[in-house]
Amino acid sequence: MDPVATPKPDPVHVLETTLRPPCVMTRGAGDLLFDEDGKRYLDFVQGWAVNSLGHAPPEVARALTEQAGQLVHGSAGFFNTPQVRLCSTLAHESGLGRVFLCSTGAEANESAIKLARKWGQVARGGAWEIVTTTDAFHGRTLATMSASGKATFAPLFEPKVQGFRKVPFGDADAIEAVLDDHVAAVLVEPIQGEAGVVMPPPGYLRRLRELTAARGVLLMFDEVQTGIGRTGKLFAFQHEDARPDVLTLGKGLGAGVPLAAMLCDARYACFQPGDQGGTYSGNALTAAVGQAVMDAVMAPGFLPHVNAMSAKLRSVLEALIPRGLVSTVRGQGLLVAAELPGPTASEVVRLAMADGLLLNAPRPNLLRFMPALNVQAASIDELASLLPRVLEAAAASSR
Ligand SMILES: *Cc1c(COP(=O)(O)O)cnc(C)c1O
Repeated sequence: MDPVATPKPDPVHVLETTLRPPCVMTRGAGDLLFDEDGKRYLDFVQGWAVNSLGHAPPEVARALTEQAGQLVHGSAGFFNTPQVRLCSTLAHESGLGRVFLCSTGAEANESAIKLARKWGQVARGGAWEIVTTTDAFHGRTLATMSASGKATFAPLFEPKVQGFRKVPFGDADAIEAVLDDHVAAVLVEPIQGEAGVVMPPPGYLRRLRELTAARGVLLMFDEVQTGIGRTGKLFAFQHEDARPDVLTLGKGLGAGVPLAAMLCDARYACFQPGDQGGTYSGNALTAAVGQAVMDAVMAPGFLPHVNAMSAKLRSVLEALIPRGLVSTVRGQGLLVAAELPGPTASEVVRLAMADGLLLNAPRPNLLRFMPALNVQAASIDELASLLPRVLEAAAASSR
């Protein structure tokens, strides 16, 4: 046969839901991603903080291979070994005794919203309002978009799901002011990720814990982005010792495999059979991966590495402040943002990609860095050598 090259598949049939560059990714390894032309990219996005162990991690490959040969999907109607094991691990580590496994962060948050409404029904006189915050991001289902506080979501897909009361993020007094008998729960991100790594003032989570406990309102933290070691502790709420009643996880939990979870204190586990579920809930294949990820993240030395790499990344970014290329640096662990002096972030992302560096711009003047939690020091050194040139070029082209 003629060695005719297989024609490259044409992405025209991929429904456009986001603007994508024309390259097609084929392979990844650790901090690196490669496209079908063999171009190499240093990845500081990692699927939006999803690939907690980097690209194609051997732990995930091993868990997938071993589990695929045992049991892929038993049925959401049966217990299976990896499901039971992962639920125990998550309950033990979080102190929240009941765990619902699902596939996406939005689904975990839907579960939390449904649990809050159910609990309001059975224990709080029919209260069904949930307090959320401006600029929050909780997902893209109708209810989680309604719970979100992104201004761009406001006009979309009307009518919204009712019952979300929005207050400014980081302002515990504003939450206190709306905690009346109609409120069943408060749902916040410990750090607002999609909004641009917005940090609440110190003591915010602790104060929310006290306020909600005093009023008998459920405290729910969306740790889909901040959980599983991202902020340098296993869960972000541990920085303030402010354990919520309900916790949602996603992204890093599956390290690239669709896995998410809603955890709650056993006291609030009020779902009756049939209230919540899902075909893939507790799926054995994804649960086995989740367990492998938890084993990796809880291994001695893993979180200290996250914190060491956080300090290194921050010092690289802070060194750009005196040069006028960055104005401030914020974040926790390996969820870090650099504010730029001008609205050049999307141009920076474009130029960086041309240079083989993947960055994210959640705001016109903001870059967000979400490397793998096991990012190599050498990769941060490479970022340090690539970034100044890109920032200078973007600033020059905006003048
Ligand atoms: C990404 C994210 C979600 C949504 O997760 P999906 O898996 O995309 O549904 C929800 N909350 C937060 C804080 C997130 O960062």
